[in-house]
Amino acid sequence: MILNIDPTELQEHARAAFIGMAIGDALGATVEFMTPQEIAAKYGIFKEMVGGGWLRLKPGQVTDDTEMALCIARAVSKNQGWSREAIAQQFAAWLKSRPVDCGDTCRKGIRAFMLHGTLEVPYNQWDGGNGAAMRMLPAALLSLPDTELMKKYALEQARLTHHQALSDAACICLGTLLHQILQGASKNSLRREVDGFVTRFPSFCFEPYRGLATGYIVDTMQTVFHWFFRTKNFEDCLVGTVNQGADADTTGAICGMLAGAYYGLESIPRRWLKKMDSKLLNELEEHADRLVMASPAGRFF
Ligand code: MN
Ligand code: MN
Repeated sequence: MILNIDPTELQEHARAAFIGMAIGDALGATVEFMTPQEIAAKYGIFKEMVGGGWLRLKPGQVTDDTEMALCIARAVSKNQGWSREAIAQQFAAWLKSRPVDCGDTCRKGIRAFMLHGTLEVPYNQWDGGNGAAMRMLPAALLSLPDTELMKKYALEQARLTHHQALSDAACICLGTLLHQILQGASKNSLRREVDGFVTRFPSFCFEPYRGLATGYIVDTMQTVFHWFFRTKNFEDCLVGTVNQGADADTTGAICGMLAGAYYGLESIPRRWLKKMDSKLLNELEEHADRLVMASPAGRFF
């Protein structure tokens, strides 16, 4: 195993991935379920952290996307290692705490654990939502840079609520991209990775981009790929993504983790950071540090 990046840089970019995810969630939540036309009519180009939206959020407030990723990070921290049971218990406690939002497939899976102890929901071809992919970051960080370990964690966390071929594929693709980004991969080589993924799973083809950004994992990933590859900085990537509307908090969260990991902390606009809860930002940074330290890559520190 070789690590092609300076450990300090890796740690900084892992923090930026976690913070980027929360920022994309908080930014996108304001325009979740709106159409691009409705967003344009109301905001022109939507690019400020103003809260509101259908969930009536405070500026900078995050939703289930960030909270479920935090559940996984907390479970790893509390259990001092990966455990599906510990993650499921965190999900259950979170659901009981009456979160601001929770997707139907996620709720169903968590209820199955609460009622029957289910740790892997049965295969269901209709469960192609993005709820498992949106919380991939902790699994990617804890497995760095071991691809096989990443796949195991990716599918174990996913199948607590989602068990569907395209959701599984997207989770592994995101884990792979995060691993490569955090080891210093260039946009060109990431693009080759995604081209290979699209060859294996043609549904995810995003050229020409159809402009759909719904919670269906195919639409979500097409939007993420389109905006990640056609922009050159964190802000443009996130603004382009959330202005597609629809499941904007989740496309925002996923683009935020990729763009944060790629461009680093310096690239995240201060005006967005200032709107975020500082306790939340601290917790996200702590989890990023802990997950990387506990990963196979941690021995390089
Ligand atoms: Mn959400
Ligand atoms: Mn969403």
